[in-house]
This record gives sequence, structure tokens and C-alpha cells, in this order.
Amino acid sequence: MFKVIDNVDLSKYSNWKIGGVAKKLIYINDVDDYKKAVFFCEKYKLSPVIVGNTTNLLFDNGYLDIALLKLTDRFSSIRIDDNQITVGSNIECHRLSRLAQVNGLKGLEHIVGIPATLGGLVYMNGGSKRTTISSSIISVTSVDSNGQEIVREANECSFEYRKSIFQEKKELITSVKLSLSKGSSSKIRRECLSILRDRRKKFPRKLPSCGSLFVSEPSMYNEFGPPGKIIESLGFKGSKIGGAMVSPIHANFIVNFGGAVASDVVKLVNQINERIHSEHGFTLKSEGVFVSSKGELIRLDDLSDENSLI
Ligand SMILES: Cc1cc2nc3c(=O)[nH]c(=O)nc-3n(C[C@H](O)[C@H](O)[C@H](O)COP(=O)(O)OP(=O)(O)OC[C@H]3O[C@@H](n4cnc5c(N)ncnc54)[C@H](O)[C@@H]3O)c2cc1C
Repeated sequence: MFKVIDNVDLSKYSNWKIGGVAKKLIYINDVDDYKKAVFFCEKYKLSPVIVGNTTNLLFDNGYLDIALLKLTDRFSSIRIDDNQITVGSNIECHRLSRLAQVNGLKGLEHIVGIPATLGGLVYMNGGSKRTTISSSIISVTSVDSNGQEIVREANECSFEYRKSIFQEKKELITSVKLSLSKGSSSKIRRECLSILRDRRKKFPRKLPSCGSLFVSEPSMYNEFGPPGKIIESLGFKGSKIGGAMVSPIHANFIVNFGGAVASDVVKLVNQINERIHSEHGFTLKSEGVFVSSKGELIRLDDLSDENSLI
């Protein structure tokens, strides 16, 4: 039977250290638990919100009618067959990358520094170094709210840059089958270390954030460069609203330097987007997603300052 925790303080639990109180946190051990948790949420009128490491989520303030559904380590199983790895979706990206490296398997170096779970990464089709996790995927297994298992080949997952079919479905990703290529373990290790060194230099590490906030837009990139460069050129580095600040280290990161609330971040996002629009005629889409008090998931750039915020 699943374990339930009441009244979870999201300003401590979430990666950004922002948010009010979630009514429940439910730990899911298996598919049966997931089915029961969905039923539990219906019964108590709570919106279920599946979470990985919450590294892409901005929670609203106040008392949220949501139940966070968090997988336990039982969803971290690993099977290696030659150059293929089948893993549970709760495995952490750095652990998976290291596992591939010690087994002399290439292709997951780019995820070594991403503080996410594999399930969250697949949902977002995240990655780095101009590579996305979809490029290594053979198939993804998920379950719907009735516990029905669905296996999709990569070409059925509608993968695009930071997009996947899972963003339109209410399904729990349970495991992922990956295809890698064989390589020298020591060379792969060197590549991972170099990526980690590079990230440490470029990205803020001391203050909580959700990583890069805006998605790069190809036509804007060609004309003006990546979002961080444009935001910096408009003088936003170090700009603050409440407890939220555009990182002085990398302008595409909004950090919580103490006591930030969701509306601080949303106001900064809107200010940045308004300036970019007036200077360059573009509007940037955000990677970060807002979780409302009713459990709706809304991209940060789709929120006005007042919209849905407590
Ligand atoms: C310091 C920092 C650096 C970052 N660097 C990068 C980077 O280099 N590249 C990159 O792509 N991203 C990066 N990110 C952003 C973030 O890690 C990714 O968006 C990641 O995909 C989110 O994974 P998560 O496990 O934290 O998921 P969460 O943030 O918990 O959830 C994200 C979404 O996935 C859904 N979800 C999570 N698990 C499951 C599951 N098992 N089944 C179904 N749905 C699920 C959730 O419902 C939610 O909608 C960074 C974030 C931080 C804080």
C-alpha cells in the first residue's frame, strides 16, 4: 500500500524552494499503487501531479488541492543487454549516465549534469550539448490511470525539442529502453568530466532554480543568439523582483535568492518577454512549468501576472 504524507511544504520540498503547501504527497511503489492513488485523488477531490525531482516545476503559493505522486526506488531497476539498457523511470540522470560509462556505453554523457529523473527528462525530451534523450530511445513504457500498460516506440512518442506525447497524456512513465553505442569507458568518463566542468563554470549552482528558463527559438537564435545572451544584452542580469533574481552568472536562469514566491518569478518572466518583444519582436517560450493550486500545468510564459496565481 502506498505511503501518504500530509501537508507538504513546497518551499522546502521543491527544487526551486518556492510554493505553498501540497495537501498530500503519495509514494508509489508499483502500478497497483498508482491506480489506487488516482482513485484516492478522485475520492478526495485532489489533482494528481506526478513529480520526478521537481527541477522543472514552479508551484503556486497557498494551500494547493494537489497530491504529488512520487515514484519510489522500486522504479529504478536496470537491465543491460549488450548495447541496450532498460531502466526504471525514477533513476537519476547522473546515475544512469555513470552506469552507461562504467559499462563502456556511449550516448548518455550529455545528461550527466542534469539534476532530473529519467521519467521527467523523457516527458520534457530534455538533454544538453544539442542532443536530446529521444536520440537514444528505443521505446517508452507508461501506464494510464486504469493501470493499462502502453509501450510506444520512439517514433510514436511525438518527440520534438522539449516536447513529447506525454505532455498531452495523463500517463505515468514507468520504464525506458535505450540504445547506446560501444565505446571506451575511460574516454566516456573524460567526456563526462569535461561536460561537468563546463556546466560548473557556466551555470549557477548555489541558488535554487529550474535550470534554463527559456527555450531557444531557431529564428531568434540565428539573428540575435541564445536566450541567455539576449536577456543579458538587455541588462537583466541581477534584476530582482521579491526573492527572484535573474542570475548574475547566466541570464537564462532565474534563481530564488531567498523567500521567492511564484508571482515573483512570473513577473520577471513577463518583464523579460515584454522587453524582448519590444526590442526584437520575438516572444520566448519557457521550459519551466507552473503548477496551479488546482494542479493545472501551465507554461510560465502563458501566465499573466495575476492569472491563476494565489
Ligand atoms: C540546475 C539545473 C540544470 C538543468 N539543466 C538542464 C539541462 O541541461 N537540460 C535539460 O533538458 N533540462 C535541464 N534542467 C531542467 C530539468 O532538469 C528538466 O526539465 C527535467 O526534464 C525535469 O526532470 P524532473 O525529474 O525534475 O521532473 P519534474 O520537474 O519533477 O517534472 C517535470 C514534468 O515531468 C512530468 N513527469 C516527471 N516524471 C514523470 C513520470 N515518471 N511519468 C510521467 N510524467 C512525469 C511531471 O508531471 C512534470 O510535468 C535543469 C534544471 C536545473 C535545476
